[in-house]
Amino acid sequence: MRIIPISVPTPFYIGPVNCYLIHEDPLTLIDTGPKTKEANEALREGLRKARVRVADLKRIVLTHAHEDHCGLARSLRDEAKDAKVLVHSWETGHRTGRLEHAEHRALLVRAGVPDKEIESMRRLYQDVRMYADSFEQDEYSELRDEEELEFDNGALRIIHTPGHTPGSCSFVREADRTVIAGDCVLKRITPNPILSPDPIDPTRRFPSLAEYLVSLARLRTFAPTLVYGGHGEPVKDFEELFNRYLRAVRERQAEVIKLVPKAGATAWDVSREMFPETDDVHRFLAVSEAVAHLDLAHSEGKIGLEMADGKEVYRRNA
Ligand SMILES: [Zn+2]
Ligand SMILES: [Zn+2]
Repeated sequence: MRIIPISVPTPFYIGPVNCYLIHEDPLTLIDTGPKTKEANEALREGLRKARVRVADLKRIVLTHAHEDHCGLARSLRDEAKDAKVLVHSWETGHRTGRLEHAEHRALLVRAGVPDKEIESMRRLYQDVRMYADSFEQDEYSELRDEEELEFDNGALRIIHTPGHTPGSCSFVREADRTVIAGDCVLKRITPNPILSPDPIDPTRRFPSLAEYLVSLARLRTFAPTLVYGGHGEPVKDFEELFNRYLRAVRERQAEVIKLVPKAGATAWDVSREMFPETDDVHRFLAVSEAVAHLDLAHSEGKIGLEMADGKEVYRRNA
């Protein structure tokens, strides 16, 4: 089973995204790139070099439904008439008619984000949505944890690795302990757990960082020798990266706890202290990161949390 990486440009700060062609019957593409002319051309060029036509694709698998990963899924599916699109049911980015804005808004209000900031985050979010087509409920199939994507020669085991998003999945080829991990494992940066509604109860937020640490530990049980991430070079030393991530989380948590005053602060207040210079594009990511670390610190009993005026206020333990 040959895994062929195809680098595809994105208009986003993160830079190019990695898509992976599994050159084996049934022909499978993991992630697609965003819906831009440049991405479409680069992807097609990559397929052409591998002597594959879009029309030959049988499966389009999404590690998660961020626009840089899923944007072209629909147009590719329409062209490859027999292709199935597969994504985890906890992922929502690709769905039509989802209530995401209202759910997100409620989470941002509780995190203390001012109304005018929420408005500008919403506008940015709408702009980003242009980079992906969405799917109706009956147009995709579910990726299920521990099931296999079977090929004529070998298989990829589906591992649900929530954290970066609730429905993120990784794919493990056990024969040589190779993993395709989407944005769960990135070589140069610590993946940012994005503030998301809990898929089971959308009025709550998804405990993204705690889930993320469990996912990393789970991938570690496969003792990966090579991990293909959603951006950047593949990771050859997962153990080193795992320990580096854990250290980074602990260091960031200690900083965040220091920014929580005895008098109390919201996640928004803490994010402004952590990243005073951020422009609007990154304020949503900043508040996501603050919430993730505050939630983890709270669940570990290191800081207190109470509601005041519909906002969550964290307090340093006396
Ligand atoms: Zn992502
Ligand atoms: Zn990504």
